[in-house]
Amino acid sequence: MPGTLDKTITVAVAGNPNSGKTTIFNSLTGAHQHVGNYPGVTIEWKEGTVTRGDWSLKLFDLPGTYSLTAFSDEELVARDFLLNHKPDVVIDVVDASNLERNLFLTTELLEIGLPVVVVLNMADVARDRGLRIDTNLLARRLGVPVVSTVGNRGRGMDELIAMVTKVAIHGVSLPGPVDLCRKSSPAPQFLTRLEEGSGKVQVDYGELVEPYLARICALLPAEDASRWRAVKLLEQDPKVLEEINDPEVRREVSRIAEEFAAADPDQTPDTILAAKRYETIHALCDGTLSQVKENGPTISDRVDRWTMHPVWGVPIFLVLMYAAFTMTFGLGNPIMDLIDRGFTALGGFIDGFWPAGSASPLRSLLVDGIIGGVGGVLVFLPNIVLLFLAIAILEGTGYMARAAFVMDRFMSKVGLHGKSFIPLLIGFGCTVPAIMATRTLESRRDRLITIMVLPLMSCGARLPIYALMIPAFFPAKWHGPVLWIIYVTGIVLALVGARLLRATLFKGDNTPFVMELPPYRMPTVRSLLMQMWTRAKLYLRKAGTVILGAAIIMWFLTFYPKPPADYVVPAGFDKTTIAADTHFGELKDPVQIQSAELSYSIAGRVGRALEKVLKPVGFDWRVGTALVGALPAKELFVAQMGIVFAVGQADETSEVLRTRLRERYSPLVGFCIMLFTLISTPCIATFAITRQETGSLKWAVAQNLGLTTLAWIVAFLVYHGGLLLGLGGA
Ligand code: GDP
Ligand code: MG
Repeated sequence: MPGTLDKTITVAVAGNPNSGKTTIFNSLTGAHQHVGNYPGVTIEWKEGTVTRGDWSLKLFDLPGTYSLTAFSDEELVARDFLLNHKPDVVIDVVDASNLERNLFLTTELLEIGLPVVVVLNMADVARDRGLRIDTNLLARRLGVPVVSTVGNRGRGMDELIAMVTKVAIHGVSLPGPVDLCRKSSPAPQFLTRLEEGSGKVQVDYGELVEPYLARICALLPAEDASRWRAVKLLEQDPKVLEEINDPEVRREVSRIAEEFAAADPDQTPDTILAAKRYETIHALCDGTLSQVKENGPTISDRVDRWTMHPVWGVPIFLVLMYAAFTMTFGLGNPIMDLIDRGFTALGGFIDGFWPAGSASPLRSLLVDGIIGGVGGVLVFLPNIVLLFLAIAILEGTGYMARAAFVMDRFMSKVGLHGKSFIPLLIGFGCTVPAIMATRTLESRRDRLITIMVLPLMSCGARLPIYALMIPAFFPAKWHGPVLWIIYVTGIVLALVGARLLRATLFKGDNTPFVMELPPYRMPTVRSLLMQMWTRAKLYLRKAGTVILGAAIIMWFLTFYPKPPADYVVPAGFDKTTIAADTHFGELKDPVQIQSAELSYSIAGRVGRALEKVLKPVGFDWRVGTALVGALPAKELFVAQMGIVFAVGQADETSEVLRTRLRERYSPLVGFCIMLFTLISTPCIATFAITRQETGSLKWAVAQNLGLTTLAWIVAFLVYHGGLLLGLGGA
């Protein structure tokens, strides 16, 4: 009997996307929940606890899935959990207004042999649509308890908990003897094929399929899920095949599956099996589900006539996105200024503990390193939170599903999925949340392509670089067009990159764009606030870990080692302010001292070492150093340029810095620097999030190397092309 020792019941909450799993999970567990990340697989699921008397129910909110076929990461997560963690009870949340489609998963869960409690959620929606479901009959036919709920109003929750506890303690309990023929017309033949004892309905796959299933079952070790495994093996599910340890058995199973596939060449095995499953579902619903009144077009249908209009759909989408971005920046920037001022004040306050111009490493670490670095990232918090609020609203109402649908036509031409569109847009703000937003993509391949090209969407952190460089090299009337060219270059490279990746590394058919259009709903304030809080927490954690660490390391690299008194700034280093052969000890000007110290520091040396690689694209060691310095966050490039050109605080003296830049580089080189910072190595936070979201270091490294190589090639072509056209070198 499960759970008798420690009185803990493990409960998985499974079901189709948007059936109300999370709503039910939250309403059962209240606020006690945390987001768990499981090794290897990257999609989150939540865990929460409910206590009832002596019993403690541990609930797991699994990712939504239509079936247990290994199509997407999410489905894999759900499937692995169900098969490997062996929950004591599975709450199968079914959208009652969409019964037949939702029962697909239910029949699979039953095939695995898991103790299931079916929840007919959205009972209110079903009623409004004029649907009537005979829950008792459905329960008898399925052989498992069925509970009706309205998740967002908390209705049916007590009953559900009671039922789950009962099933966990006493096993599946039916509301009476199994009698398939009582309320309606006699059930079709195969519905009476009930497993002895358990009283569970089974899909009858028919004369053609069953013999093959039996043959495979005979090869597999006897266990609960073996019938389900046999079905998956007939579908030639690679994951399930992999899980067979004995190579002999694996070969034999493959042979049977191939034989089955050859038996009916007109249909693929999975369509045959799915059709049989649907036959069973139809039979289940026959007499259980009835339409008691006819409905005209719903409000959702009427709104969709506009939002999904072939002509108006796109402009409506653009206007809504524009509104979302304006809100993000309009509301966010004043708060951002406040935070910025707060950090400046904090820096000034801490600075005040040391005499003016103090060379104390602790002062420098605290003020320049930590407050400068972490503060520079934290100021974006309001923007991030607001952007996610906007997205949560668009998503919660159900509009985002329409937008993705409308954009799919364009996206599929370049090998991207319609759902990639939203993450790419978010990428203009910040790549990190954009990469997280790719979770909406079902196919891992689509997700990887999108993640790989995402850094090419010029994020907000690059804007300060352009704001510094463009006025330095171009006359005022070119400012707008040059900025536009930079952004468009990024977009074009992203699209071309996606196309190439699709044609090479990620070959395969386009995943068809199947997305259910949920009815429009009012998102609950609670769920909006919760999403904002989750994002804020993730971002704060990033600032407190990755960024803090990077800032300290970068500070250390630019600060140490300190030169000895007789150190002479090497040839090729900055001689514009420091006379040749001057010893470090003789320098008086703090800016010159800083410059000399930098040339001796690790960062300065790395910059000089990089010069060999960067020469061909027209960059010198200064750019190299600044590029290295900008690894933690692209914004740092400007500050680093300020340091290597020894102009002190870059912000205050950007005109001085621009003059220095103009003296040293041609507009062509300036343009190449911008291109390079646009395309090359994404910041450390992007690296970390790519690693986390793809679940492997490999993709993060590939992204970095790939983009940096691309940056070099593009800069090289532009630089030498420009030289050939006589646009002038350094
Ligand atoms: P999940 O994807 O299965 O986790 O679904 P969610 O819990 O996110 O719910 C999707 C939407 O359905 C949300 O807008 C909920 O507020 C809404 N919802 C959940 N349960 C019900 C219900 O019983 N009735 C109605 N009308 N809406 C519901
Ligand atoms: Mg959910």
